[in-house]
Amino acid sequence: MSSKTILITGGAGFIGSHLADTLISQGNRVIVVDNLVTGSLKNIEHLFDKPDFKFIEHNISEKIKIDEDLDWVMHFASPASPIDFQKLAIPILKVGSLGTHNALGLAKEKQAKFFLASTSEVYGDPLVHPQPETYWGNVNPIGPRGVYDESKRFAESITMAYHREHGIDVRIIRIFNTYGPRMRADDGRVVCNFINQALQSEALTVYGEGKQSRSFQYVTDLVAGIVKLMDVKYHLPVNLGNPYEFTVHELAEKVIEMTDSKSEISYEPLPQDDPQRRRPDISKAKELLDWEPEILLEDGLTKTINYFAEKLASELSSLEAKLRPEIGIK
Ligand code: UDP
Repeated sequence: MSSKTILITGGAGFIGSHLADTLISQGNRVIVVDNLVTGSLKNIEHLFDKPDFKFIEHNISEKIKIDEDLDWVMHFASPASPIDFQKLAIPILKVGSLGTHNALGLAKEKQAKFFLASTSEVYGDPLVHPQPETYWGNVNPIGPRGVYDESKRFAESITMAYHREHGIDVRIIRIFNTYGPRMRADDGRVVCNFINQALQSEALTVYGEGKQSRSFQYVTDLVAGIVKLMDVKYHLPVNLGNPYEFTVHELAEKVIEMTDSKSEISYEPLPQDDPQRRRPDISKAKELLDWEPEILLEDGLTKTINYFAEKLASELSSLEAKLRPEIGIK
């Protein structure tokens, strides 16, 4: 890929910041647009001294003016954790609808290509397993997850309309559960909850009986798939996820074992509309991109556990430094 100017909305978030790292390392110019509602400057501060990096604090649900040519607009902005679905319901609906409209408008104005980060949530609580891109989904539009699911379904719809009406060169990915460093410790998702609970000897909160399944991909596998798709002219949605499926209970046991933790498991109520099974059919990505995930769960979990362990240690040492004078210790 020759050097391009690429704008990433949500580029200070978990996935967006890893994508920014890779695109910068390949010699591209990257402009991150983020309102920091769930993203963090900590995720991108190491890029600030790069001449080909620019950060703009802005909510993409509001119109934006960019004073330079763009080759790509990549729309990755959105709170995406189930606990955000309650706290940030309206911002989620806005960024999926108005935000996607504004990002597409920018791509149209700049004659840039457009890349939409959609989600496996468009399949809702799926009745087809594993989920191929041709499955239309089973979504409760007025349930607690509906704000995210429907905003992403709308985002896909308007993206295809801009492709058909205005000839915009678009890509759409449906991202399945992804984990890795830079997830928010308090974002409520299962991998960061379990790791942080295990590291602090708290009980691991398994919702329901933990029989529901998920398939987790490590973030660098996802980014590799994204970069490959940028180079392939294919406009329909493509699933990117790891087909290795296991139950939430199995994950809890694995995290306890890997952290050598004394934590127990506590069983909490299952949230409403929690999908019972989820596993991507990745035949399309394999055929189109010659892509499949490479990182084993154990290896990805090790890196993620190390990330959260370091984060906790540094929070603890700054708390200690703050408390020492207060309790009379130098
Ligand atoms: N979950 C859990 N304990 C937690 C957090 C989540 O048992 O502390 C379950 C949740 O009910 C779901 C699965 O783990 O079945 C994955 O949840 P997550 O929030 O990570 O993502 P989702 O796939 O639901 O969007």
